[in-house]
Amino acid sequence: MPLLTWLDESTDERPGAVRVDDRSLSWVELRRAAGAVADDLRGVRRVAVSATASLETVVGVVGGLLAGAAVVPVPPDAGPVERDHILRDSGAEVLLGPPGPDGVADPPVVPVDLARRSDGRHAEPDPAATALILYTSGTTGAPKGAVLSRRAIAACLDGLADAWAWTPDDVLAHGLPLFHVHGLVLGVLGPLRLGSRLHHVGRPRPDRYAAADGTLYFGVPTIWSRIAAEPAAARELRGARLLVSGSAALPEPVFAALADLTGHRPVERYGMTETLITVSARADGPRRPGTVGVPLPGVRTRVVDERGAALPADGDAMGELQVRGDTLFDGYLDRPDADAATRTADGWFRTGDVATVGPDGWHRIVGRAATDLIKSGGYRIGAGEVEDALLAHPGVREAAVVGTPHPDLGQQITAYVVGDGLGEAELIDFVARQLSVHKRPRQVRLVDALPRNAMGKVQKSRLTEG
Ligand code: ATP
Ligand code: MG
Repeated sequence: MPLLTWLDESTDERPGAVRVDDRSLSWVELRRAAGAVADDLRGVRRVAVSATASLETVVGVVGGLLAGAAVVPVPPDAGPVERDHILRDSGAEVLLGPPGPDGVADPPVVPVDLARRSDGRHAEPDPAATALILYTSGTTGAPKGAVLSRRAIAACLDGLADAWAWTPDDVLAHGLPLFHVHGLVLGVLGPLRLGSRLHHVGRPRPDRYAAADGTLYFGVPTIWSRIAAEPAAARELRGARLLVSGSAALPEPVFAALADLTGHRPVERYGMTETLITVSARADGPRRPGTVGVPLPGVRTRVVDERGAALPADGDAMGELQVRGDTLFDGYLDRPDADAATRTADGWFRTGDVATVGPDGWHRIVGRAATDLIKSGGYRIGAGEVEDALLAHPGVREAAVVGTPHPDLGQQITAYVVGDGLGEAELIDFVARQLSVHKRPRQVRLVDALPRNAMGKVQKSRLTEG
């Protein structure tokens, strides 16, 4: 079966099937425009795409896939260093889309012209062939190129079709960047495999989400939190079928506000560039704030202690989450060192995230082992629990909790908080009234903003460095 099943088989000429901002193509138009790109790419093994939020990006990516090339999306606003890293590291032979600023050494640039059309047949590559080389978000270090096969992407999307009851009757609406798993694999290739229409709203703004006529909405926690803060916009989503959150933990107060305003308890899902989506709540099941659901079809998970021994699924034991299954990547590009570090001897992928699993199979992501698991005075404390306690305060808009060095405790809990009219002692006291004493922050720093990347992820390493 081809990777982009629906695109391949659809004879649908109705306008508006794939829409980005205020421009759109029918299914047949998309296939022909991408076919023209694929004709240009014959013989190219790796093609970079300047991944602006545009129809040109959709056509460029699909063209690359039709040509059987490995597609490397480049963040359009990447600074010269990151851009150069991705273009060189990936070995892209051609760049589709607008060239970078003057003075940047890009590979030869091929423009994407939506008006050109071709509908020649392109042979479907082997399922084991690379579809995408996606760079990780760079939350913990320099972005690494994850090599993703056509088979892994197909397995992930089919698992999500099952979990989210995603069908051709859906209209997917979102405003995510098109260079990561969330916006590109789920947000663009999802509709092209599963058949739903796509409305990319151009920019991830509450008013744009509110104006879209979607059944299925994707967002990262920062956009859901902005939507929850604008009740009129949030109420426009009442007619939706499913709201999905991922890429970072959805704070429980945001979950509650969304449920209240939209009438939908959001579905949370968990994944990584390296593993695609592995765990999710289901459309036909419960959704529990603070949890990310159960393994998708074809995925197995386990939680292990520091020695690699499996921990009990009692909802309490915290350890590293490891996964295996059909959605895993083939490895990092030219990084055997990083590859070796992520695989166990018995073939599991080490996520580097800390989780618990309940007796019913529900997963709770505590956070990243490196920054979110705080070891203080012999206790192991998940940063997320303290963040949620802070966020319950009406004056707190954002909170990030990290462990900072402490002479006696090893680490102490330090909270960075964004909000109005707050005092340090008041916030420490506020947490102390909710959680055990060892989970109380020792330090609260009031800041104007948290350092975040393009996906809205808090870059905690920047908080602990400085
Ligand atoms: P890098 O690997 O370059 O440091 P990154 O890990 O942020 O960056 P991604 O692959 O985009 O790059 O993100 C995967 C990570 O995002 C996961 O390891 C996990 O920490 C986090 N994550 C994803 N979904 C969720 C979720 N629903 N809840 C909590 N964390 C999540
Ligand atoms: Mg990572």
